[in-house]
This record gives sequence, C-alpha cells and structure tokens, in this order.
Amino acid sequence: MSQKTDNKAATSRHPIVVILGHIDHGKTTLLDYIRKTNIVSKESGGITQHLGASEIVWHDKRITFLDTPGHEIFSKMRVRGARVADVAVLVVAADDGVKPQTKEALEAVKKANIPFIVAINKIDKTTADIDRAKAGLAEIGVLLEGWGGSVPCVPLSAKEGKGVDDLLETIFLLTDLEELRGDATLPLRGIVIESHLDPRRGPAAMIIIRDGHIKKGDFILAGSAAAPVRILEDGFGKPIESAGPSSPARVVGFDAVPEIGSEAITFSSKTELEEARAALEQPAARENTPADIGILVKADVAGSYEALVEELRASVPADLPVKFFDGGVGEVTESEIKNISAAKIPFVVGFHVRMRGPILDVAERLHVSIRSFEVIYEAIDWIREELKKLAPKKITREDHGKLLVLKVFANIPAGRIIGGRAKDGVVPADAQFDIVRQGETVGKGRIISLQRNKVAATELRSGEEGGLMVQSSRAIDERDILAFYYEREA
Ligand code: GDP
Repeated sequence: MSQKTDNKAATSRHPIVVILGHIDHGKTTLLDYIRKTNIVSKESGGITQHLGASEIVWHDKRITFLDTPGHEIFSKMRVRGARVADVAVLVVAADDGVKPQTKEALEAVKKANIPFIVAINKIDKTTADIDRAKAGLAEIGVLLEGWGGSVPCVPLSAKEGKGVDDLLETIFLLTDLEELRGDATLPLRGIVIESHLDPRRGPAAMIIIRDGHIKKGDFILAGSAAAPVRILEDGFGKPIESAGPSSPARVVGFDAVPEIGSEAITFSSKTELEEARAALEQPAARENTPADIGILVKADVAGSYEALVEELRASVPADLPVKFFDGGVGEVTESEIKNISAAKIPFVVGFHVRMRGPILDVAERLHVSIRSFEVIYEAIDWIREELKKLAPKKITREDHGKLLVLKVFANIPAGRIIGGRAKDGVVPADAQFDIVRQGETVGKGRIISLQRNKVAATELRSGEEGGLMVQSSRAIDERDILAFYYEREA
C-alpha cells in the first residue's frame, strides 16, 4: 500500500514520470489507462479526478506519474513538471505526427536534462502512419532507436491498451540505468507540483517527495505557506499516514496557497516551523517602496497565476519601471487594492476570479485600473496595450534625399528662400532637414513651401532643381547640404 513507504530503500527510489505532447495526442487517455489498470488499491474511488500526480504499481514496482496541463500557456509549468520528473514520455499521435506542442515539449525535456521515451500513440487508427511520425521526429532532431539514434520508441494505443506494458517496461529499463536516489531517512525535501484553494477544506498542495517523509503530525512549510499535517492523501485522494521518496502527497489546510515549484520542508513542532518561517520572511519587507507602475495579479489557481505573471513580465518593455506586487490565488481584497494604489499607475488583473462591487468601488476611488478576464491572452493583451500607452515614445529616423543649396535669396528666421538641387534620393516637402556644413550638422529646419519650375510640388527627385521657403534654427549658406529625414514613432 502506498501509505507504507518504509526505510529499507534508503538510497533507491522509484521513477517519477511526466507525460508531455501535443494536445489531443492522447496524454490523458494514456494516463487514465495506466491508472485504471494498475491502481494500488481497487477501493480508492476518484480516479477520474486529476490531482497533480499519482502513484501506481506495475508488477510489484511503483511509478509516480505527474499530470501535465496541456495548454500552451502552461509551458512554464511543464518545464517545472519536467524538472521534478526523472523521465519523460513524449506522446506523438501516429495519425497526426509532430506538431508545435511536440516541439515545445521536447524543448522542455531538453531543458530539464532528463531522458525521454517517445510513445507513438493511436496505432489502432486506420490513418496511423508510424513511419511518418518517426520521420517527423527525426526532422526535429529526435533520433530514435533503429533510426540512427538511442531514444526509445514505443508504438501503442492508449485507447485499447496495446503497447502500454511495453512503455512501462521501457520506463524501468531507462530509469534502472539512472540509479535514482532518494534518502528516506533524511528530513523532507519536496516540491509543490500543484496547488489550489479547495472550497471546502482550504488551501491544498500536491507535493512530490525527493528525500524524507511527510507524516501526519508533522508541521510543513511550503514556500511561505504553512500547515499542520492533519489531512494527508495519496494521488488518488485516499487518506494516508505518511509518504516517502518519489511519492506524491497532498496536504490540505495551509494558511495560504503554496506557490507551485516551491520547496517543502517539515518540522516536528509548530514553534520550529514558525521560527524558520520568520527567518525566511525577513527580507520580504519590499512592498513599501513606491513604484511607478504597479501590477497585481490574482487567479483562481496557482498554475494560472504563475503562467500569467510570467507572460506579463515578458510583456513589460525594458525601459518601463514596472513592479509586480504579491498577488496569488483568490479574490482581490480591499487591502490589496490599497497596497497597489501606492504605485503611481496601478493595475489589477484578475483571472477567473470574482470582483465584487465594493472592491470595484474602492479601486475606482483610489484610481486603480482593475479588470477580470476569462481568457489569459485577453488579460495579457490588456496590460500590453496599457503599457504601450505609457512607454516612452521611441523615435526612429528615416533618411531621405539631400538638397545642395545653390542660392540664398532671403535669410530671415520667419522664412528663408533658397534654391537648390536634390541629390541622393527624394526631397519630400513635408520632411525635416539637418543643415550640414562642411560635414557637420549645424542646425535643423523644415520646408514651408516647395516649387519645381515655379509650380508647387510635393517633392524633388534626385537631380531636379527647385525653389524652397524654409524655416530653420540657423541661417543657411550657399553650398550647405540639407539632409532630409522623417522622424517616426516606433
Ligand atoms: P490529450 O489532450 O493529449 O490529453 O489527449 P486525450 O487523451 O484527451 O485524447 C484526445 C482524443 O484522442 C480523445 O478523443 C481520445 O479518445 C483519443 N485517443 C487517445 N488515445 C487514442 C488511441 O490510442 N486511439 C484512438 N483511436 N484514439 C485515441
């Protein structure tokens, strides 16, 4: 039973596997099939629920599978997921081949520097073409066994279960070589792979254990969130007494929603935990310096929060003084609005969170721009547009032709009348110019009127002569060069 992880295996631990791949290529189906056919205890009910990770037993050997969100926006989480895992399974549908998210998944696996197996899925379909899928993989640099490389490849049908045993076997072959190590006797070292606000039971987190144990009666600190370990469950939501290396364990009842990716450690008393937490939180008095532009993000789940903050950070132009305030999971509160109103230009972005009338009133009173979104890209677009308006305008210069000044008829600041010949391109009537004298820019100006053959013109082409009335910061001399250009806002 998964709750009895004993101390015998102080140095080896079972594999943690992440399944990645393009949407609809069968990740969920594969995971569901594996879980359904290999659950530890048949009485554990809610296996349709995805809880972040689950541990199964296959031929008396354990494997922990991580759930991976499929949507593109969660690429960051996928990278994290891949880092927690020991081995990745890259699912490619035989009827669809390599797709954009296949490449993304491959990148994530490469970054995590873990071995991977290719599962070519849906081979039961009449439209399946395994060789084409393999060729597509070769094109993106995945060299499979038998195709000049060493990446294991297992054709399977997640729907019918065919080939799934081969996949599990291959996972063990691969991880046996890796000699996975974890020390059950060490203090806990775990990583939060999923977290959310359970509406009935409070903040909950799924933790993957690398070393040590979590047991009931411990006090756990995950990032800056703390909990007494009273509710402890396995990946199927079944109550357990303790969990050890490579196992997933859900702890419910934190005092805040732990951040995904944060490290979890345990203590034997609440006092020890509070001391550690106080020490960790010392440098966090950073919310008090005023910022020019402030952004606060609130979302329904930690994964979306992180993904959104990540995307927003990437959208901020380097020359803008933007500060991200500590947001997180849950509804926007009045004190958060007050906090962020310290910024000169404050924004609050909600994702799948309710914004109550009174909160909107406070925001309006404190001049905080606040909006709630159901689609992550719309939230990003909003902030992008707003920041674009605030960005200092970048001016770029677009050079045009030059005018060689042949004659100066009048030289008063209100209007200098000159004659000249265009060269090196077109002289547009509405452009500005630099006055270049002996190779040096000595002044600036613009054309008031331009004539070619005594007729108003919009431009002079290279070689053409014309008469101009100009205004300029400096008197113009014969033989000066007027270098024309437009200034454009980038
Ligand atoms: P995910 O987005 O990668 O998790 O893909 P799903 O597991 O949701 O599968 C997408 C669709 O493909 C569903 O309709 C599945 O029933 C179907 N599917 C998955 N695996 C197989 C398979 O091996 N054979 C066939 N014929 N269909 C499959």
